[in-house]
Amino acid sequence: MAWLLRPDALSAFDNEEIRETIPRYVDVARGGRRPLFRIDQRIFLNGDDDPWRSHEEGLRIMSECLTEGECPEGTRERGQRSLLEVKISLARSLVSECRLCEWKCGVNRLEGQVGVCRVGAPRVASAFIHMGEEAPITPSGTVFFSGCNFRCAFCQNWDISQFPESGSPVDAGRLASAMDELRGRGARNVNLVGGEPTPNLHVILEALNLASEDFPVIWNSNMYMSEEAMRLLLGVVDLWLPDFKYWRDECARRYSGVLRYRETVTRNLRMAHNFPPGEMVVRHLVLPGHLECCTKPILGWIAGNIPNVLVNVMDQYRPEYRAGEFEEINRRISREEMREAYRMADELGLRWRSVSLP
Ligand code: SF4
Repeated sequence: MAWLLRPDALSAFDNEEIRETIPRYVDVARGGRRPLFRIDQRIFLNGDDDPWRSHEEGLRIMSECLTEGECPEGTRERGQRSLLEVKISLARSLVSECRLCEWKCGVNRLEGQVGVCRVGAPRVASAFIHMGEEAPITPSGTVFFSGCNFRCAFCQNWDISQFPESGSPVDAGRLASAMDELRGRGARNVNLVGGEPTPNLHVILEALNLASEDFPVIWNSNMYMSEEAMRLLLGVVDLWLPDFKYWRDECARRYSGVLRYRETVTRNLRMAHNFPPGEMVVRHLVLPGHLECCTKPILGWIAGNIPNVLVNVMDQYRPEYRAGEFEEINRRISREEMREAYRMADELGLRWRSVSLP
């Protein structure tokens, strides 16, 4: 099948800024290197009374070999489990008293209880090849999970994010088949999004263990994962695609209904950045009237803490869903505001041009 590619998508992998900032992702997308979840399947760990200790040992091995170049092909000995299998069993234990995200609801989702996100068994609203993501990501094999742990007043996917019962139920086998099919149809990656992928982490890891195709895994998320869930994602996610929406916690509470936003998201961005390969495209949606309180300090934090990442300074804000309830954000972003946001990004030396401009 022939795809109508965005003109910049084909050449994106030859763009110098992209080759320099996300080289491993580019190689995996082209089929030249193994995705991280395949390496997880080849690191074998001895049984340990404390599975988290086993997991940390697996991460240590992985971090070392990724830093040195490539990881060896291990062979399983009697009684050993792969790092991916250890991650799966730890994720299931997190879901049984749910601590997948920073809400830490403590409900047993394996027995049908639901927490703040109201996500029960995972459901997928749609899975298709997305032609409108950032150039190096397009064409992208997007999997939209129903439900979200945020309540963003301006959500553009509110019919998916705020209705966890929408879409079709998926188990690990069906999800693995959907991922394989997307890659088989020409997707550069599998892009896990929603709503929010976090409440579905346990099934996503199981699906990766069943998948036949090799593909880079993209985590397209609000980054409100708990620290434990973050550790499980390290060494699985080939390219992070995090939102960094707010700097002021008051803005996060007012528009998205979440607490301790900045502390949680900056911790998780640091963790993602510090574990190899640490490749990411940070998305910052510029909100009307929020240049001083949010955009400026966010871009400054990125420049000071995770300076070598790609940043998408986004102008796509539209006052959708319940945005009309807040007069100050009930308008499009102005040209002057966007010019100022780009000027700030330039002044800070951020790498934003190859993924921000249409
Ligand atoms: S994913 Fe988050 S919001 Fe949902 S039940 Fe678990 S801890 Fe609560």
